[in-house]
Amino acid sequence: MVVGDISTGTEVLVIGAGPGGYVAAIRAAQRGLDTTLVERDAYGGTCLNHGCIPSKAYITASSLAHEAGSAEEMGIHADPAVDMSQMRSWKDDVVGRLTGGVEKLCKANGVNLIEGTARFKDDSSVRIEHGGEGQGSETVEFERCIVATGSRPVQIPGFEFADDPVWSSRDALAAESVPDELLVVGAGYIGMELSTAFAKLGADVTVVEMLEDVLPGYEDDVSNVVRKRAEELGIEFHFGEGASGWSPDGDDVVVETETEDGETSSYRADKVLVAVGRSPVTDTVDAENAGLETDEKGFFETDDRMRTSVDHIYAVGDVVADSPMLAHVGSKEGIVAAEHAAGEPAAYDAQAVPAAVFTDPEIGTVGMTESEAEEAGFTPAVGQMPFNASGRAMTTGHTEGFVRVVADEDSGFVLGGQIVGPEASELVAELALAVEMGATLEDVAGTVHTHPTLAEAVMEAAENARGEAIHTLNR
Ligand SMILES: Cc1cc2nc3c(=O)[nH]c(=O)nc-3n(C[C@H](O)[C@H](O)[C@H](O)COP(=O)(O)OP(=O)(O)OC[C@H]3O[C@@H](n4cnc5c(N)ncnc54)[C@H](O)[C@@H]3O)c2cc1C
Repeated sequence: MVVGDISTGTEVLVIGAGPGGYVAAIRAAQRGLDTTLVERDAYGGTCLNHGCIPSKAYITASSLAHEAGSAEEMGIHADPAVDMSQMRSWKDDVVGRLTGGVEKLCKANGVNLIEGTARFKDDSSVRIEHGGEGQGSETVEFERCIVATGSRPVQIPGFEFADDPVWSSRDALAAESVPDELLVVGAGYIGMELSTAFAKLGADVTVVEMLEDVLPGYEDDVSNVVRKRAEELGIEFHFGEGASGWSPDGDDVVVETETEDGETSSYRADKVLVAVGRSPVTDTVDAENAGLETDEKGFFETDDRMRTSVDHIYAVGDVVADSPMLAHVGSKEGIVAAEHAAGEPAAYDAQAVPAAVFTDPEIGTVGMTESEAEEAGFTPAVGQMPFNASGRAMTTGHTEGFVRVVADEDSGFVLGGQIVGPEASELVAELALAVEMGATLEDVAGTVHTHPTLAEAVMEAAENARGEAIHTLNR
């Protein structure tokens, strides 16, 4: 029998093994469903292979090198040498251990794993094309399906990722050496994280951004802290300019930009990183064969059970419309879909989703800003604690930024918070728990916090919002 003749059945078929898909598959198997997970590339998806994990590995390593080389004030005199190829092997090892762990966890939970590209034949079966010549294909019939096919970087006209000097974020994270001069198009979170890491590794970084500031969507006093620090690191910004094309010039490239008024500029670099956003990967599954509709941008619309327009087909992660493209969101959605597929009354009902940007310093946000709270009809009580008043922050040498807590003045319920400063990505978890649990300012302020820690700044901000701060002047 040839491979293409094989036809098998499964209760739940999950397409895509990123943080949305593999989590969904494990939870479905934990609930006793016969589960099959199909992946065409690598276990762990974008997050583990080309996104969150490799970028954070480089961010940590580049920060370590930079810190060691700029701690004269602490009495540390060092001039660290970066061995990029060793740093890359270390990053690959971290990735390898995690992706291997995903495969083992899936197997240990009884998930059937298939390598290949799944395309819908109809609304109850897929054809899976195995990679490589002569590998053939097989058909899998399913009762329920969870589509978790993720996203890819957006290309802009004139900048093909296939062209050598033009990098996507994936190319940047696979780079063999640090470019002398890096031109980054886009000052969103991926552009800013990678710009910071490459600047710390010694590249001269220039960022062009169509809008007027870095990190659109964040409040000005939050993004200003990050932009100023990036400028201190030597990153040069050009706002109000869109990249319009590039041409080779010897070993370098010259990138042309244009303002809305038609003014042009050009910048020389040896690599160009285009980081202008991500688009859903829904074209790999032949969705129309299953009767699945996508919106004009290619996303699947879902209900709060993660069901698409076809009741027994779910979508989770970066392919879902109106849902932030974040790994932890995909995983939560995957759990909801799997539990619902198992007949449980699961629904996606998070009160607020935290988000982090791993720049220098970091940003961590959750829930409402002050103006969002006002728009929602609350009278906001806002408290702030600057890190330059935190003993622990001083001992780390990082005192930029602040913790801000936003609450409802009448009830004291914490509605959200914005943190910019050291370890903001970790600290925001406390505020996320507060929002999710319906904690009040009194609960946060009244919780004994370890001293000396950065987390005390969260407690102090809550005290500040109550007009009872000890270590800062009350607002
Ligand atoms: C540089 C970078 C940094 C990031 N940093 C963070 C961060 O710090 N925190 C955070 O929360 N998020 C971060 N993200 C976003 C995060 O990576 C995504 O939100 C997350 O990976 C989405 O998970 P997913 O399961 O929806 O899809 P993906 O992780 O994209 O996985 C989808 C999988 O489906 C497979 N696939 C596609 N089509 C088929 C098919 N037809 N058949 C079989 N398999 C298929 C793909 O090969 C892929 O492995 C980052 C992204 C990038 C690019």
